[in-house]
Amino acid sequence: MGDNVLVIGGGLVGCETADYLSERGKSVTIVEVLERMADDMVPILRRPLMDRLKSKGVKMFVSIQKERIEKNQFIFMDRERNEHVLRGNTVILATGGKPQKGDWENLKSKISEVYFVGDVIDSKGKILDAVAEGTE
Ligand SMILES: Cc1cc2nc3c(=O)[nH]c(=O)nc-3n(C[C@H](O)[C@H](O)[C@H](O)COP(=O)(O)OP(=O)(O)OC[C@H]3O[C@@H](n4cnc5c(N)ncnc54)[C@H](O)[C@@H]3O)c2cc1C
Repeated sequence: MGDNVLVIGGGLVGCETADYLSERGKSVTIVEVLERMADDMVPILRRPLMDRLKSKGVKMFVSIQKERIEKNQFIFMDRERNEHVLRGNTVILATGGKPQKGDWENLKSKISEVYFVGDVIDSKGKILDAVAEGTE
């Protein structure tokens, strides 16, 4: 892990990753295409996380556009349409996950009852969703 880290994707996962790395002395920048960082977090957790990131000097850009990566450079426009060029030696992609049912679907031909619950159905789900689906 390099000392200058760029996190692409400022949702819950990207912001928590930035929190972890900045705690360990890394210089971290987060870029997000939406208007708001960690928009998928509940307010009671989001606010303290945002405060922590700011107090540790994590740089955050929202509503970014026209992002591209060139050799050791990440180039994008901020919401005021100013161009930024970031140099970093580590890039973390936290742009979202996809459920992977893979070969598990085939189980239905072998076993009479098969249920999918939790993130394997919807990777944007939360712990409560997984628990509720499991219970059901
Ligand atoms: C960084 C991060 C922060 C999060 N923070 C929150 C939060 O604050 N609040 C909240 O509600 N949710 C949060 N979530 C989401 C939450 O973790 C998930 O919604 C929840 O864990 C889904 O539960 P699950 O049992 O479906 O999947 P998981 O918890 O991912 O469990 C799946 C398990 O299956 C195992 N597995 C995979 N393939 C196989 C295989 N072939 N054989 C055997 N085992 C296998 C995996 O190793 C894993 O242990 C967060 C997620 C991330 C990534």
